[in-house]
Amino acid sequence: MHELPEMPPRAALIAGEWVTTPHTLRVEAPATGETLTEIARSEAEHVEEAVRAARRAFDGKLGEWHRWSARQRGEWLYAFAAAIDDDAEALAALECADTGKPMSQAKGDIAVCARYFRFYAGAADKLHGETIPFENDFAVMTLREPFGVCAQIIPWNYPSQIFGRCVAAALAAGNTVVLKPAEDACLSVLRLAQIATRCGLPPGALNVIPGLGSEAGAALSAHSLIDHLSFTGSPVTGTLVTQAAAANHVPVTMELGGKSPQVVFADADLDAALAAVVRGIIQNAGQTCSAGSRLLVESSCYDDVVSRLAERFSALRCDAGEKDPDCGPLINARQREKLETRLAEAKDDGIRVAAAGQLTDGAPAGGHFVVPQMLVDIPENHDVVREELFGPVLAVQRFEDEDDAVRLANATDFGLCAGIWTRDGGRQLRLAKLIRSGQVFINNYGAAGGIELPFGGVGRSGHGREKGFEGLKSYTQIKTIAIKHG
Ligand code: NAD
Repeated sequence: MHELPEMPPRAALIAGEWVTTPHTLRVEAPATGETLTEIARSEAEHVEEAVRAARRAFDGKLGEWHRWSARQRGEWLYAFAAAIDDDAEALAALECADTGKPMSQAKGDIAVCARYFRFYAGAADKLHGETIPFENDFAVMTLREPFGVCAQIIPWNYPSQIFGRCVAAALAAGNTVVLKPAEDACLSVLRLAQIATRCGLPPGALNVIPGLGSEAGAALSAHSLIDHLSFTGSPVTGTLVTQAAAANHVPVTMELGGKSPQVVFADADLDAALAAVVRGIIQNAGQTCSAGSRLLVESSCYDDVVSRLAERFSALRCDAGEKDPDCGPLINARQREKLETRLAEAKDDGIRVAAAGQLTDGAPAGGHFVVPQMLVDIPENHDVVREELFGPVLAVQRFEDEDDAVRLANATDFGLCAGIWTRDGGRQLRLAKLIRSGQVFINNYGAAGGIELPFGGVGRSGHGREKGFEGLKSYTQIKTIAIKHG
């Protein structure tokens, strides 16, 4: 293993102090199964302290965050982005070891994290309200105000990116934050929190409480003193969190899973399409909410596409992330076993693996590897084309015409992303309108992850938007002021 930077504190960041907890949690390296370090296991009492600290920082005192102007907040976000860039090597090494993702992807994720802070830094003082024409003896205006204390519960697949997405927007808008990172991977997040305090973020503005979802996460989502909650993770947990928040009428943003289709027509640039299809499913070993996990291929080019894709899949190699392979391990044994069970069931149902990658000879024996693979001969409503597998597994189906493509694309309760590959302009727009999805990408997939683009789902993929200026607005609420001047 590469030399790792110093491990973050086994503590929670509460009111600007690192607070140790009576119990800790073991952190495993997914590539080897070995212990990396331990993290704090925050419990209800720590959540209580963190929420009260965030409350004080927002309402007044404790570090005086509430006195910072929009311009000051923007300046701090710029400074923090620069500090992230300065520490990028160490942050990427932690993210790579902790999640198992290939080093080049970990480096990319840290760069994206810094970009979120820079983007929202520039936007902090551009959250304008409106003036509204009304009766002649009135002047009416709106203010775009922060919610207050934002609870954020984030997953293990993109810890630093999602930290950037949620924390940068919430702070830029003037909120304070209590963030519960995932127990499976949060080392980069803890280091980011250390850097934030060193950069002079006032105590209480950002509190980070590592711990179990069933303890820290449940206590945070049910807390009566939070004003907004954003959650990224599974639909099942999203339901629990939504129910808990609803008891206090706390608004929620839900970024849940996906079963996103890539639709390829025979007139497409097939080389570009197939390269993007492979990238879209092996990135982060398929553990990506927006993974393009279904491929729908027009009948007339189906055999050609399947044989060309099979070549690409057979060439893929799995290994530890630090060796920068095509594909790293899954996050833990539970996720690997869950996926292996689903694949065994699919095989029993007659579904065939048309091609698969391989483990390299030197891959560590204790890693949670599942090789990338493409499935064919899939019955239409089978689970592998309806449910999220969260692994490097592509389900390939054939369609006859546009109507058939739309029907298959929409044959899932999820609606996060869709890719459409065709040179026909009319068809591009017809499909973009008819496919139920928060994002539609035409002749690309994912728009290179652009942080400037609003992102979010429909249906079981969630609701609300993060990223881009929409994401900033979703951390604000409108206040209307009506002045009767006679
Ligand atoms: P999860 O949804 O349970 O975990 C996400 C976050 O929620 C973590 O921080 C976790 O600690 C917290 N959490 C868990 N239970 C909670 C509770 N009762 N109250 C409050 N917070 C709670 O996800 P998982 O179990 O780690 O992964 C399972 C599946 O979730 C995956 O197979 C995948 O399908 C999906 N997932 C999706 C995303 C995404 O980006 N949309 C990310 C991770 C996992």
